[in-house]
Amino acid sequence: MGYKKPSLIEKIAEKIGIIENLHNGHDTGDVGRITDEGMQTDYPPMEQWDHWEEYEATSWPRKEKKAYTIVPTTCFNCESACGLTAYIDKDNGEIRKFEGNPYHPGSRGRNCAKGPATINQITDPDRILYPLKRKGKRGEGEWERVTWDQVLDEIAARIRKAIQEGRNNEIAYHVGRPGHEGYANRVLQGWGVDGHNSHTNICSSGARFGYNIWYGHDRPSPDHANAKFILLISAHLESGHYFNPHAQRIIEGKMKGAKLATMDPRLSNTASMSDYWLPTYPGTEAAVLLAMAKIILEEGLYNRDYMYKWVNWDEYMSKRHSDKSQDFDTFIQCLIDEYEEYTPEFAENESGVPASTIREVAIKIGEAGERFATHNWRSAASGNLGGWCVSRTLHFLNVITGSVGTKGGTSPNTWSKFKPKFFDVPPPQKFWNELHFPDEYPLSFFEMSFLLPHFLKEGRGKMDVYFSRVFNPVWTYPDGFTWMEAFMDENLFGMHAALTPTWNETAFFADYVLPMGHSAERHDLNSYATHSGQWIAFRQPVLREAARRAGKDVTFTYEVNPGEVWEEDEFWIELSWRIDPDGELGIRKHFESPYRPGEKINIDEYYQYIFENTEGLPEAARKEGITELEYMKKYGAFEVKPHTYKQNEKEISADQMRGADVDPDSGVIRKGGKEIGIMVDGKPMVGFPTPSRKNELFSQTMVDWKWPEYSIPTYIKSHIHNEVLDKEKGEYVLVPTFRLPTLIHSRSGNAKWLVEIANRNPIWMHPKDAARWGFKTGDLVKMNTDIGYFVDKVWVTEGMKPGVVACSHHLGRWRRDQDQGNRWATNTVDILNPEPGKWKMNTKSGVKPFKSKDADSSRIFWADGGVHQNITHAVHPDPISGMHCWHQRVRIEKPGKDDQDGDIMVDTNKAHEVYKEWLEMTRPAPGPEGLRRPLWFKRPLKPEKSLYYLNK
Ligand code: SF4
Repeated sequence: MGYKKPSLIEKIAEKIGIIENLHNGHDTGDVGRITDEGMQTDYPPMEQWDHWEEYEATSWPRKEKKAYTIVPTTCFNCESACGLTAYIDKDNGEIRKFEGNPYHPGSRGRNCAKGPATINQITDPDRILYPLKRKGKRGEGEWERVTWDQVLDEIAARIRKAIQEGRNNEIAYHVGRPGHEGYANRVLQGWGVDGHNSHTNICSSGARFGYNIWYGHDRPSPDHANAKFILLISAHLESGHYFNPHAQRIIEGKMKGAKLATMDPRLSNTASMSDYWLPTYPGTEAAVLLAMAKIILEEGLYNRDYMYKWVNWDEYMSKRHSDKSQDFDTFIQCLIDEYEEYTPEFAENESGVPASTIREVAIKIGEAGERFATHNWRSAASGNLGGWCVSRTLHFLNVITGSVGTKGGTSPNTWSKFKPKFFDVPPPQKFWNELHFPDEYPLSFFEMSFLLPHFLKEGRGKMDVYFSRVFNPVWTYPDGFTWMEAFMDENLFGMHAALTPTWNETAFFADYVLPMGHSAERHDLNSYATHSGQWIAFRQPVLREAARRAGKDVTFTYEVNPGEVWEEDEFWIELSWRIDPDGELGIRKHFESPYRPGEKINIDEYYQYIFENTEGLPEAARKEGITELEYMKKYGAFEVKPHTYKQNEKEISADQMRGADVDPDSGVIRKGGKEIGIMVDGKPMVGFPTPSRKNELFSQTMVDWKWPEYSIPTYIKSHIHNEVLDKEKGEYVLVPTFRLPTLIHSRSGNAKWLVEIANRNPIWMHPKDAARWGFKTGDLVKMNTDIGYFVDKVWVTEGMKPGVVACSHHLGRWRRDQDQGNRWATNTVDILNPEPGKWKMNTKSGVKPFKSKDADSSRIFWADGGVHQNITHAVHPDPISGMHCWHQRVRIEKPGKDDQDGDIMVDTNKAHEVYKEWLEMTRPAPGPEGLRRPLWFKRPLKPEKSLYYLNK
């Protein structure tokens, strides 16, 4: 933290000379940026950001002052994009440290441990500094340094050829951590390729599907700070997303009297701070949530007015109860009857949570009414077959309490997310890539990315040009050996360029490794649903901005970054021009300046255009006598709207209504063949982006797409339900969906402080289970999955629900002898492939001290780098949401005498069989009218509408 105001005692002590007066020269009054009750903190005042002096901590007890230029940017270590300020040493021009940015409306000056640890990533002695090209065979570990020019020319020629030959579907961009608000999507549409692939189906598809089927939005944005009751289906805080912005608002809500309940089989940090810990048996959450819904309905605690107006109850009645009176009271009774079996006792039987607690929490939720904030991100929705039912039944509680979009309630995240206006919008592509959206998964959210190597193995297609971008499927995905096999086959992946700030297990199997910037070394636009407001933030390369302030010209960001570390934004512009140098492919025009016709756009112009078209920003900039871009470079963030409540009630203007039709029965307003709103109380309102423009309790979409049994919120028994486990044989459920809040998936391996805090991932086991096996903390345990096994250590803890075991997924990083990088966190392993499909990994040595320019590297005291559990998991694609169902049925075993810590064995032939078993569960397209996918569903990079129809 920067300047801290003296306390009263400090002031007196300084005045009478008991302690040195360290606050002289800082008497600038109140420079705090946070004005919420009792939560004010102080920062260097903005007018001193060009020249800020503070005492150098390492010089103590000498009083040495250092001068800094302070430049704002945003963190890239999770999705929240909290504000950071970089302190750039004026003597040597190097970044010294990162603090919070008090002008950032999402994080309000605060960060989690991963924010300030950005400095470790920047100074990491093992980072990649120059573009590299492989020598020898893929995966052999030999690299040569090449120039950016060579990289651009070679890759551009390959893309150009593929496009000229109509092989557009062989070009793909596969993203792990995005965080750039549509930049890459625009590039891909500029190229005319259906080439977007993401990590969403191993992360959040389950929860997204459950929300989407209700109200067309696929993520929640809880207003924790104003809630009376907060219910988290968690691991989500521990899993990193919105960790700091949500955590600070949850505490704020609690300080104002809110009660917090957390559903999680682990006593996580969040659960330990909660008023109610509900340790549900994994996969039974929806049963508990439905029991709560039933109690709220029976007790009359539901919000009648909201349900009457904003639920498609009339459609539910006409489709499911056409024989009954079609009035609202009958509807409520039908609903109670519908969920008759979901008694608290039934929920207790399923989940293990006492019926009395379920009842108590349900009543509290009902009493909180509109001030009921909820959140589900990964966690249960990503762990289970039918996990999407968890978010669907959670939203059910928001619907019946009328807390959708209210103050203290839960809004759709899209209301809080800013949509940038681009200088150029390419037309939708004329391709549908079935490797990303195959017919078997017409409802998937989103691309079936974790099945890609299986699709390629089956001969469904090829990747001729494949970009992985801050993405590490060999390590983060299930079934990593199948990825390795595919990557090593040049018939499947013709060319693989890994765009990454750090070495990772996937980059080892690339043809080009292209060093991309960490958060303080790149441009991005950010906007996330951290609370009920809407903001944008500007991630900027801080040394470039410092150079600008010093009057130096910089053309490309790699000129100021360490080595030749670049950024994607400029890379894509340069690449696009080289794909289409003369403009004949129609690509180049999408990368021409809006201010200098016919010339190549530069990065300042790209953002200048967006900021000029951001509501309220031109006025704010004008007040200061600067441009919009200068404003963002100065503050790093801008609040577009302080609140975004009840956007569904936004009225449609008379102008917009001209030419629209209103359906006399449903009140749905249509224009140009599209639903645009709904009549409520005689007023035309925008409603929700569903066919009924309301919350869809009854989903005709589920019926139309062959899943009528799930037309209303329900509970699906998970693939790891207690009924399918044979406890006598030692079968347990393994929960692998959490990580510790100080770690990221891959990139914390380059942050020494973070690895020092947490560096092992043992199996969490309750004392009762440990006693059954005779395990004590530190003993080895063999975890047998469907396709292999891993050997790990046991951690005996009361913080785990009995009968369930868990293992954090953030550790177990590895490198082979021939690989480079990440020595803070990686075990050195041997990988053997004794016969086709059979893979073995064993740990040769753990993490060890090493010599480098960073003296701390020789002080490493930890040795256990953890175990790579994900690589032993088979793919489990949910047949509806497409989500990988992470929870594993494992057979616990005492290791044999030859088993060592970290040993791994996998059979990829078995992995392919499991893939096929799950594929059998699907109900493929076409849907109604020969559709591949419902037209109203979201899809990244929507192609031309005609491509939605299967010509079969
Ligand atoms: S929560 Fe932590 S890791 Fe995520 S953006 Fe904020 S500071 Fe960075």
